[in-house]
Amino acid sequence: MIFDLHCDTISRIYHDGTQLRSNDYHIDEEKLVKTKSLAQFFAMFVDMKKVADPFVTCNEMMDVFDREVAKSEHIRQGRGASDISDEHITGILTIEEGGCLKGKMENLIHFYERGVRSIVLTWNYENEIGYPNYEYTHQHDGLKPFGIEVVKKMNELGMLVDTSHLSDGGFYDCIKYSTAPIIASHSNARAVHNHARNLTDDMILKLRDKGGVMGINFCSAFLDGSNLSKVSSIVEHIKYVKNLAGIDVLALGADYDGIGCDLEISDISKMYLLEDALKKEGFTSDEIDRIFYKNALRVYKEVVKK
Ligand SMILES: [Zn+2]
Repeated sequence: MIFDLHCDTISRIYHDGTQLRSNDYHIDEEKLVKTKSLAQFFAMFVDMKKVADPFVTCNEMMDVFDREVAKSEHIRQGRGASDISDEHITGILTIEEGGCLKGKMENLIHFYERGVRSIVLTWNYENEIGYPNYEYTHQHDGLKPFGIEVVKKMNELGMLVDTSHLSDGGFYDCIKYSTAPIIASHSNARAVHNHARNLTDDMILKLRDKGGVMGINFCSAFLDGSNLSKVSSIVEHIKYVKNLAGIDVLALGADYDGIGCDLEISDISKMYLLEDALKKEGFTSDEIDRIFYKNALRVYKEVVKK
């Protein structure tokens, strides 16, 4: 089974009107069924520089999610952890760009009521919450006062704070202010490949101590800087993180339909390639299950109550 913490599939469908049921993308319903998906985070990815009003666009994307899930045979929208069941695939709404809140707490509550259960606080731009790690321009800048309030409110509501893309300073503020485990839904290890989107050893250890997880990202730029996303590079990050911080901090956040590189694991139905590679490296089935879904499920259960 698989619980994947990040994809941009709905944003793609929003832009070109294809279907979730079956498409040429990395993720569709058929591929999720094939790979035995337990749960999938569907990010509403909004590029703030390309839209007139990120709040409006984000809501329109959620309309697409609602429409596609309503047509689907196997996918159901999940909110609380008890909605996740191996009898269907649970699709969970998330937002990738805290700027969609437009600095208003009432918009956070609006999104919560629509079913959003996790927010990537920033993408590659500064917003009302904080700063991105993009090109390290704001590496040491922390959360803004509104960002601290958002983290507290997300704790109160039972939403997962997602620190992928966030500045290192912002990450440490989430560790400091969040009373619940936090996640980095689609980030790798900076010690394996030095990229601003990856986490330092210290960040990975802090994330573990907080009870959170990091979803391993399949984007080659974050794996090894090449143009091909290789299974061996994914395994290298997983081995490194396991040796550094233990198995329980590892999850998957492949970033499918958000990455443009060529991929050896060319879509989500081919996740068995990673399973096979990990087995060859001596990972036990229990360890593989933890990486593939158990750790993400543990954090979701702890944080998202309803
Ligand atoms: Zn992203």
